Amino acid sequence: MTFLYKADPARGKVWARLFAERAPHLPFKIWPDVGDPEQVRYLVAWQPPDDPTRTLPNLEVLFSVGAGVDQFDLSGIAAHVPVVRMIEPGIVEGMVEYVTHAVLTIHRDFFVYAAQQQQVCWRDLPVRSASSCRVGVLGLGMLGTAVLERLRLFGYACAGWSRSEHRIEGVECYAGDSALDAFLARTDILVCLLPLTPATRQMLDARLLGKLPRGASLVQTGRGAHLVQDDLLQLLDDGHLRYALLDVTTPEPLPREHPFWRHPGIRITPHIASATRPETAVESVLDNLRRHQAGLPMIGQIDRHRGY
Ligand code: NDP
Repeated sequence: MTFLYKADPARGKVWARLFAERAPHLPFKIWPDVGDPEQVRYLVAWQPPDDPTRTLPNLEVLFSVGAGVDQFDLSGIAAHVPVVRMIEPGIVEGMVEYVTHAVLTIHRDFFVYAAQQQQVCWRDLPVRSASSCRVGVLGLGMLGTAVLERLRLFGYACAGWSRSEHRIEGVECYAGDSALDAFLARTDILVCLLPLTPATRQMLDARLLGKLPRGASLVQTGRGAHLVQDDLLQLLDDGHLRYALLDVTTPEPLPREHPFWRHPGIRITPHIASATRPETAVESVLDNLRRHQAGLPMIGQIDRHRGY
């Protein structure tokens, strides 16, 4: 029985050391050194091999090394193999830090001061209270909820939107398509923490972003394909939107000639909002293996029908 890792090889070495310490009985292999493919029961991957259940005929569980599974072609994975996304505290901490920084940057006018510094300009703007700034998070899952729980402590007026009903203390929760317009109308800083699915692909378009109040800003930490890029440029150029902080783009890396790089209202980071931390991720995978072997539901198992 083998556990196979197929993602960044440097991080794979850390996974191998942690598995050797914490699960010495379970042989750990790093792709492309598969050993006997028939022995592979568990695979953790960013990008699984083509036709994984044919390549690894005895595969029992496919783990994503990241929080999302949009990089998987779910139609190519046999239905009896559960697909499990990464739920571990390291991803959450990184995302909370990133979004908190992004919201504070916009709310406390750091965009303006950076531009003023370029012009050697000393000019103060009124300091606005956090409570006067309305933050709205698309997606109330592991990440959206953690982000809102932190932002609430700063005093921001917090809201979130999800598919099903949620209750989060101090957060106005909106659910379903019928509540989306009301959620957008009260949001000054929109944070996208949705998974990429057929329902959310290209969702951040002129129609949706145009329902934000004039002068609103976007923090895009979901996936690049949520965003209609030309619509964002148009809305920034006509002043409907003020700023966009983009951690994810299509494609990645963003090509040198892409207009996003030089737009004064856009800040780009190279998909670093958060990352899986091997130390905590290995613990959560091993916990899920114990659950699987005991016949218990695994934490983070996705619903293939919904796509997340
Ligand atoms: P979860 O699966 O825990 O949460 C997803 C949330 O989105 C849920 O609240 C869900 O609603 C909501 N949702 C999904 N589809 C819809 C829809 N069609 N309409 C309304 N709401 C919807 O995901 P996570 O919080 O763990 O992660 C979210 C995403 O963040 C990841 O999929 C990934 O794309 C991105 N990410 C980005 C990283 C980066 O570095 N930039 C790092 C890690 C993740 P409900 O609760 O009702 O099911």
